[in-house]
Amino acid sequence: MAQEKQIVTRFPPSPTGFMHIGNARTALFNWLYARANAGKFLIRIEDTDRKRHSEEAVQVILDGIEWLGLNYDNKPESQFANRGRHIDVANELLAQGKAYKCYCTPEELTAMREAGNGYNRKWRDNTDTPPEGIDPVIRIKAPIDGETTISDEVQGSVTIKNDQLDDFIILRSDNTPTYMLSVVVDDHDMGVTHIIRGDDHLNNAFRQKVIFDAMDWDVPIFAHTPLIHGPDGAKFSKRHGAQSIKEYADMGFLPEAMRNYLMRLGWGHGDEEIIPDAKALELFDLSGIGKSAAKFDFDKLENLNAHYINELSAESLIENLVPIYEAQNDTTFDAQAQKWVIAHADELKSRSKTLLQLAEDAAFYAKHTPFDYTEKADALLDQDGKDILTNLKTALESITEWTETTIQDACKSVAAEHKDGKLGKVAMPFRAALTGTTASPSIFKAAGILGKEECFTRIDAAIKK
Ligand code: GLU
Repeated sequence: MAQEKQIVTRFPPSPTGFMHIGNARTALFNWLYARANAGKFLIRIEDTDRKRHSEEAVQVILDGIEWLGLNYDNKPESQFANRGRHIDVANELLAQGKAYKCYCTPEELTAMREAGNGYNRKWRDNTDTPPEGIDPVIRIKAPIDGETTISDEVQGSVTIKNDQLDDFIILRSDNTPTYMLSVVVDDHDMGVTHIIRGDDHLNNAFRQKVIFDAMDWDVPIFAHTPLIHGPDGAKFSKRHGAQSIKEYADMGFLPEAMRNYLMRLGWGHGDEEIIPDAKALELFDLSGIGKSAAKFDFDKLENLNAHYINELSAESLIENLVPIYEAQNDTTFDAQAQKWVIAHADELKSRSKTLLQLAEDAAFYAKHTPFDYTEKADALLDQDGKDILTNLKTALESITEWTETTIQDACKSVAAEHKDGKLGKVAMPFRAALTGTTASPSIFKAAGILGKEECFTRIDAAIKK
């Protein structure tokens, strides 16, 4: 029995300086397909635009891929570095009579364009002596008659009339290969079996097939996915929200949530929404990619993020939280604060849709007295607030077993005595004193976790302020 070819997919970004969410989804689909089928996932940097090239721009893309957690199986290939090979292939096609030198002048080409019929194949079978002083380009002989069909895994069978294909340039007059040629040669040389990419490349696929066929190379299987749209149905753009993967990382989204969200954006398995990696690798296939544009839905992404934040282990919670907190506050989130956060993890995680919210919610654990109060917290710590705290101190001092319940009971007793039983009137200044804010997870639980000594330090600081 013939052995099945190993599946090889690729992600070939142009290093534009940022990784667009659409590119991230393309990378993810290629990664999923390779990993789901024990295949290889390769990266190629399409860096032939040397004028705009920068290593930092390449790094942004590689960082994006790494952040998304998409491991790859090669040292990222440089398309520019392969140009010698691309030139060789152009010359080989020339030698085989499948491509030809074209000596048309820019004026002639303009005239043809203006006539509206495209390039007129003037030099295709022309045996005239070439004009002097013109560096020719190399053009491929595209089929003239008949039709070309691409059987696309997403779009189905797509056919065009061959007269729509012109004899496009594969090598420019300055001996640089064109994008169309480079992509095909690289895909062939990298052994790519499946090309999964945005449907804005579908037209290119027909031209690329011309080159594959001329070289007698296997044409990879194509899967052209519809582009991402905004909620209003227009192409996803800045006005719909953040465009780059880095912005989502900075907003406190988890890569696992992003993977799940982007996977579901245009791919489906019934109406399952929560599809963690292991399941994704089991389920992902090309037939699940929808034919119509997927709409970006920020709420859905946030809900998935909330789900994955809830799933974080204590260790990864701290790993995610500490750098965010430290970057924002210029102080350390010390070991003691980390222990406290872990003790309060369940509630902290369930309250937050993003890591930023989580870091904000947990920040009070890292504070050391004296610390600043928000304006609202400050207002609660007026004379009345301080009197309540003084009364509360007395009630708290008599607690023998320091727990969430005994603390709450102490607050209740103070409320009963001084505030007509209104617990909030006691809990609010208590919260302001312990956290410096007016919003936090359960303050009784937080007080239990902080411990008696730390609570008294914070209450005293609030009374003294
Ligand atoms: N470099 C192209 C892009 O970023 C990808 C081309 C392809 O997938 O063939 O759109």
